Amino acid sequence: MTPPPGIDELAATFRSTFGAAPDGVWQAPGRVNLIGEHTDYNEGFVLPFAIDRTARVAVRIRPDSTVRLLSTFGNQGLTTADAGALNRATARGWTKYPLGVLWALQQRGLPVTGMDVLLDSDVPRGAGLSSSHAIECAVITALNELTGAGLGVQDMVLATQRAENDFVGAPTGIMDQSASLRGAAGHAVFLDCRDQSIRLVPFGAARAGLEMLVIDTKVSHSHAGGGYAARRSSCELGSEVLGVKSLRDVGLDDLAEAGGLLDDETFRRVRHVVTENDRVLQTVELLGSAGPQAIGHLLDASHASMRDDFEISCAELDLAVDAARSAGALGARMTGGGFGGSAIALTPVGAVRGVRAAVERSFAQAGYTAPDIFSVRPAAGAMRLA
Ligand code: ADP
Ligand code: MG
Repeated sequence: MTPPPGIDELAATFRSTFGAAPDGVWQAPGRVNLIGEHTDYNEGFVLPFAIDRTARVAVRIRPDSTVRLLSTFGNQGLTTADAGALNRATARGWTKYPLGVLWALQQRGLPVTGMDVLLDSDVPRGAGLSSSHAIECAVITALNELTGAGLGVQDMVLATQRAENDFVGAPTGIMDQSASLRGAAGHAVFLDCRDQSIRLVPFGAARAGLEMLVIDTKVSHSHAGGGYAARRSSCELGSEVLGVKSLRDVGLDDLAEAGGLLDDETFRRVRHVVTENDRVLQTVELLGSAGPQAIGHLLDASHASMRDDFEISCAELDLAVDAARSAGALGARMTGGGFGGSAIALTPVGAVRGVRAAVERSFAQAGYTAPDIFSVRPAAGAMRLA
């Protein structure tokens, strides 16, 4: 088998850094959420897809308990740790992700094992495309194979969630790693966050003459902590007052009554979640019956709901969405947790240049930092490359 481009160089850098050949090279993708925002922790529906931007890791299992980690990004140097004394308080930067995975596997009974890891990723960092889960999913896929841990894909989903929640300290759900580990080329991953079941839904944008553009606004979503927690609390309050286990149990028909029971702000938070769940179901339905060209209005409605009801958009995201729509995108919405990060715009191939130019122009006119605009395709989930 001829290794994919760049793999020989990665292996060569690994050898010169660590003094031995890697046992293999694995990759895992970032993801875009097509629709279904802030529905995951309400036991609702999400529809992400794995993208053709990946984290690649060359990995060697060591005979001792030493862990050595290096990324090709930045000049962060080599990090060394002891697999027998993994410590979430002292782990720094990106090394939290591979160390968190090793820790989560140990919690499940993996014996102490050292390793050398070289990371090379082209998933944009902090843009809401889950560069962090790409790293975790590449590492867990490698370790699962190399240590003979024998986890099924769903166990790997749960182990990376444990790593994020309890080692990295990020209160995330299972969407990102489900897309990264279970995604398939030309498909979106329809995930029911209540029973954690998935169904692959054909999402052949290219066949329909469409491109999915990502517009990275460069507004960091790292200050979202307080806003994210506040939205979660509103949803909990809403389900408590409405007497349901989670907002998943509230239907469109219940909204009129809910309006009389909740304060205005909590009602609008609830209305976003309830209508968003419905939009995910409609999107899945339309992708099956009419194809991706039919879902634009649902992307637009999702954005309006996040802007007006859930209030997690920002001026840059709104401008990106409006400019893309005016220049011919079929639909556009912010994607990810909000307060910054990226928007997506489903765009006919012939309108791509115009949409790019319109977004760039409107950002320049508003005095915003120039956005990064690129297209993504629904791509395969995590795999071994060499
Ligand atoms: P997102 O997952 O949306 O990209 P996060 O804040 O969860 O945003 O993760 C971004 C972090 O992932 C970065 O701050 C960095 O620590 C780490 N990271 C991602 N890619 C790389 C890379 N190639 N090299 C080093 N660190 C990386
Ligand atoms: Mg992340």
